[in-house]
Amino acid sequence: MIAVTLLGGTGSIGESTLDVLARNPDLYRLFAVSGYRRLDELLQICQHFQPEYAVVPKEAAASFQQRLKSSGLTTQVAEGEEGLVWVSQHTDTQVVVAAIVGAAGLLPTLAAVKAGKRILLANKEALVMSGALFMDAVQEHQATLLPVDSEHNAIFQCLPQQFADKPLADQGIEKLLLTASGGPFRGWKKEQLKTVTPAQAVAHPNWSMGQKISVDSATLMNKGLELIEACWLFSLQPEAIQVVVHPQSIIHSLVSYKDGSVLAQMGNPDMRTPLAHALAWPERIDAGVAPLDLIASGALTFEAADDDAFPCLDLARQAFKAGGCYPAQLNAANEVAVDSFLQGQLGFTQIPEVIDRVLQASEPRPANDLEILLSEDGRARDLAQQTLKDFITN
Ligand code: NAD
Ligand code: MG
Repeated sequence: MIAVTLLGGTGSIGESTLDVLARNPDLYRLFAVSGYRRLDELLQICQHFQPEYAVVPKEAAASFQQRLKSSGLTTQVAEGEEGLVWVSQHTDTQVVVAAIVGAAGLLPTLAAVKAGKRILLANKEALVMSGALFMDAVQEHQATLLPVDSEHNAIFQCLPQQFADKPLADQGIEKLLLTASGGPFRGWKKEQLKTVTPAQAVAHPNWSMGQKISVDSATLMNKGLELIEACWLFSLQPEAIQVVVHPQSIIHSLVSYKDGSVLAQMGNPDMRTPLAHALAWPERIDAGVAPLDLIASGALTFEAADDDAFPCLDLARQAFKAGGCYPAQLNAANEVAVDSFLQGQLGFTQIPEVIDRVLQASEPRPANDLEILLSEDGRARDLAQQTLKDFITN
């Protein structure tokens, strides 16, 4: 039995993970699970899966422990960030699913890396922020890093098994094609985007996801973060990765080889597929996903991304090229701006403007030290908050 730690069990990826675990009870058991706000749901998860540990914020720990006890459960509570780190590096767990949203997932995910676990990475922000530091730690501690983001999981499936041993160009790979759905506002122009509401932005046409990633999909920042994620996962420069808008989300990404072959991974848009793939790799297990019916899917179409209406993709590309702490600053400013947009304060088209201001006001700094990264993350958040004030009052 493989013992799984699930960071972010109450979210959308958490729910998909639990569904796959429940379908394969002879192979996996839930060792630890975390929640942040929706603690009623966390309690239900504990009742169903009876994990050894549940991690909740410090202020909720005592009352949650009491609720577990009243339900007749022996699940122990671990608290706060230290609790997340502790369950991620625990010797009794082999697999850590990193499904917390945003920078909050960085330290526990890094702890799992440093403990040499198999990490199923959904929390792209953690890798975007810490880049080389993260990948070096994977090498040093011989962790197994498996991408769960559907595009990166697709690319992983289309690459040679030993792809990490040498540069992709030496293995006949010309480029990666990263697909994007285009989000709910595909085809809209800048002017039309000005009045977009949070409710419109979170209504994704193909995927049901958490609020933050849904807004990121609508601004194309999600594709920007994914471009950076792909650069790190596959040791490439952005020039070797082409973003292709594919509104049906049936092809999850592709690898183009120099002999003209292009390999794609396809399937219904359901995160249980990449989660099941990464859980069982190199085996295959049941994910509960309906087989793809190509005839019912109909035509598959492709188009270029509109950099003018959706500047976030290029902001991310530039931040990666500038290197150092710029991707962490980009991520921090984006988290602050998206939060403000979701609260009905910042306008949709002001999201990239806030990020651009923060990047412009930042100095180049090498990102080879966690302390520096965290302090730059904090500084970029403060700067973004100040910028918000200007934008919202003007
Ligand atoms: P979500 O909002 O549905 O869930 C987020 C989870 O993180 C919840 O369990 C919440 O309790 C936890 N969390 C939030 N803030 C926290 C904090 N400060 N400290 C500790 N825990 C906290 O988000 P999601 O859609 O499940 O996405 C999770 C991650 O996976 C994101 O990084 C996202 O980009 C990535 N991802 C999601 C999808 C998808 O289909 N949902 C696809 C690819 C990648
Ligand atoms: Mg994705």
